[in-house]
Amino acid sequence: MPAHPHFRQDFPQLDPPVRTLMGPGPSDIHPRVLQAMAAPTIGHLDPAFLRCMDEIQHLLQQVFQTKNKLTFPVSGTGSAGMECCMVNVIEPGDRVVIAQNGVFGGRMADIAERLGAEVVKIQVPFGQKFEIDAVRTAMAGKPTKLVGVVHAETSTGVLQALPEIAAAAHEVGALLLADCVTSLGGMPVKLDEWGVDLAYSGTQKCLSCPPGLAPVSFSERAVQALKARKTKVVSWYLDVTMLLNYWGGERVYHHTAPINMLYGLREALLIVLEEGLEAVFARHQRHGDMLVAGVEAMGLAMLVPEAYRLPQLNTVVIPDGVDDAAVRRALLQDYNIEIGGGLGDLKGKVWRVGLMGHASRRENVVSFLAALESILLQQGADIQPGAALAAVAKIGA
Ligand SMILES: *Cc1c(COP(=O)(O)O)cnc(C)c1O
Repeated sequence: MPAHPHFRQDFPQLDPPVRTLMGPGPSDIHPRVLQAMAAPTIGHLDPAFLRCMDEIQHLLQQVFQTKNKLTFPVSGTGSAGMECCMVNVIEPGDRVVIAQNGVFGGRMADIAERLGAEVVKIQVPFGQKFEIDAVRTAMAGKPTKLVGVVHAETSTGVLQALPEIAAAAHEVGALLLADCVTSLGGMPVKLDEWGVDLAYSGTQKCLSCPPGLAPVSFSERAVQALKARKTKVVSWYLDVTMLLNYWGGERVYHHTAPINMLYGLREALLIVLEEGLEAVFARHQRHGDMLVAGVEAMGLAMLVPEAYRLPQLNTVVIPDGVDDAAVRRALLQDYNIEIGGGLGDLKGKVWRVGLMGHASRRENVVSFLAALESILLQQGADIQPGAALAAVAKIGA
């Protein structure tokens, strides 16, 4: 039976608003990525697509700064990458140390518990980093299989340096798992130099790509742990030994690769490497610095001290008496700017302002500061009018 004659009146042409995505992700998509995704879909075993896969793996190794052969994108979002890394090396009864100073460390601990691991948590308040001694203490006494940390905590804006933790983990024969979802493409991620054994990321943060893929990388040490398993990997979909028959040499069907998403990732990686990793990181730092200068000149405070603050995810303390939800609603409705609210312990206490990938641009910093100032003044907040943009102007281009 044909559709009701007025069917399309109830479902008009999809017309999402054009927003500036300055929250915790997804962030603004680079137009070249969307264009690449519109290319014709071909088969996942087509020689032309196999070439594209080789290229993606090669480009991913460069962005992760690794020679790890086992580097490829998992079909799924960042959380699938997290689950993939964990399910492949953790077996029931394994002792696992998870640093939990934000929401995503909590998610790691949850997955480890579901896998039957004995989970030891390092807990510090949201907005703080943890010290290396806490990791050593947690690992002491019994053999530890894995230490899991979040490199760039998107829920708090905290950067956790990895090299020291990797060295401490290796001293006791443990693997280091790092969540690089918000760091990859926004700040240095040097898997080989730092000694990270398992890393995962996501496409929708600093890679300027839509959500849907999770680049992962396994070191030789992680591959050994996988080979030494006594039990079968409990997830069929995320079992790396099977996935590798497709992403590795044999090219055997496992699941249908999300072809057009992979076109997008390929383009996104090319964009990052064309600009140059160092230039990309410097751009993120510069615009993060500009945002902080503006926010502080206005009279607001940042949650995280400068020494371990992420330039791509800025947590701004909400001043007393200001209506959190009303400010974010006005930014979205009146200025088409999306920022994030606080998560977990920080709910209602901070705004999360992302400057990730293609969104890390001076025009976005200036638009956001101008819009925020106007909204706060309307709300009667005690801020310094004009000071934010004056501070940004001093920083230059
Ligand atoms: C966004 C994010 C995730 C989860 O990724 P999804 O794509 O939402 O599944 C995990 N860790 C960190 C640090 C993130 O920022």
